[in-house]
Amino acid sequence: MHLPGGLARFSLTTARFSVKKQSNMFLLQEYGGIDVTRRSVSSEIEAMEEPAGGSSSGVYLLPEFEALASQAIKTQVSKMLSWHALKRWDFNVFDLCHLTDGNPLLFVGWAVLGSPHSQYAMARACGEDVDLDSFEGYNFIDSDLKIPLHTLCDYLRVIQEDYISVNPYHNETHAADVVQSLHALLQMSGEELHASNLEIFSILLAAVVHDVQHPGSSNAFQANARTDLALIYNDSSILENKHVSHAFVKMFDSKADLNILCKIDRSKVAKIRNKVINAVLHTDMSLHFKTVSDIKGDMMKDDYLSDEETRWDVLMYILHMADISGQAKPRPLSILWTDRVMDEFFVQGDQEERLGLPISPNCNRHTTLKADSQIGFVKFVILPAYEVLGGIIPQVKERVAPIVEDNLEYWINQRKVESPDMDSTA
Ligand code: AMP
Ligand code: ZN
Repeated sequence: MHLPGGLARFSLTTARFSVKKQSNMFLLQEYGGIDVTRRSVSSEIEAMEEPAGGSSSGVYLLPEFEALASQAIKTQVSKMLSWHALKRWDFNVFDLCHLTDGNPLLFVGWAVLGSPHSQYAMARACGEDVDLDSFEGYNFIDSDLKIPLHTLCDYLRVIQEDYISVNPYHNETHAADVVQSLHALLQMSGEELHASNLEIFSILLAAVVHDVQHPGSSNAFQANARTDLALIYNDSSILENKHVSHAFVKMFDSKADLNILCKIDRSKVAKIRNKVINAVLHTDMSLHFKTVSDIKGDMMKDDYLSDEETRWDVLMYILHMADISGQAKPRPLSILWTDRVMDEFFVQGDQEERLGLPISPNCNRHTTLKADSQIGFVKFVILPAYEVLGGIIPQVKERVAPIVEDNLEYWINQRKVESPDMDSTA
């Protein structure tokens, strides 16, 4: 990197800073993009002395698990959220939502981000005599990130509440589904991604918050209707900006005790925040075709998973794939997701009609054919994108791509049922 002469000679490791050196650091940081953030000595000592995660020695059982109606339901939920079942591609998040009294994101978030402590606590609550060591998981709690489990659950509870549950599609069940689907894809990739703890944590956190406060209508609607959100975010990735902004407003609210990143130093917090912001902004569907083409470019490079930048592109791509995984899921899950997304589209179409706005594609309930919309979406968006993902994760090619092809077949046949007079060549 080119640095102006005076700045290049400046040593970043100098222990005592003169006023002049501090101003040089300011220049490096503000205009050179160089992270010169320094923790105070006391906070460094604090970080070294604090026990990892804060609750690693005890068992932390989610109160909502304890409050489940019967021991039989607790056992069922515990089985669904075991490390083995949690990574299943046919995981039924609708069942989980029902079993947990409408807390799917809280439970999935606790199970994934709180693993293996969450599985251990559930097993103990179900009467199993087990050790923490016998459970698998990410263990962000005892890692260098020292995520406090209790605060994590409080944060998940607040974020879940801030999803708008009356939305047919963009609600806490979709968010839970994206977290679980992302986890399943990460597990399919095994060790091949070479991702760090911080990277995996950041992408999972991005999944948790990625649609929070979604109003149930699209970016195009916000811009056309000139909503407050469109005006705040200048018509640019309006909803995605809102989701990720909300996530950090809640996390860093000094009046609430929700800062799950409170035990790590500022530079790590900045890194996670930057990654989560990028990943959520990346879920904007208007970037889809560019994203697929960029990833294909990344894959041409040697050792593209060893480079931090391209590896992060891949992780963001995996999140995006989890976000649109409804049509890559086995039936009846894929049909349930279609029904939900179409219901939401039609509510938006009704609103557009009322407001005299152009009715968005697939949103006119009087003219949209469900099967037709799905054929287009699966054939041109989902199938090619999952084929690319299959080039990165071989298990996706073997296990997921055939489901997408089968779903395409299904919608082609459905079209014959919905509109038998139409030409059946898809
Ligand atoms: P997100 O809004 O972050 O969940 O991004 C995913 C977007 O993909 C949704 O907003 C929909 O516009 C689109 N989408 C997802 N599933 C379907 C589907 N089955 N048919 C048509 N569009 C879909
Ligand atoms: Zn989403």
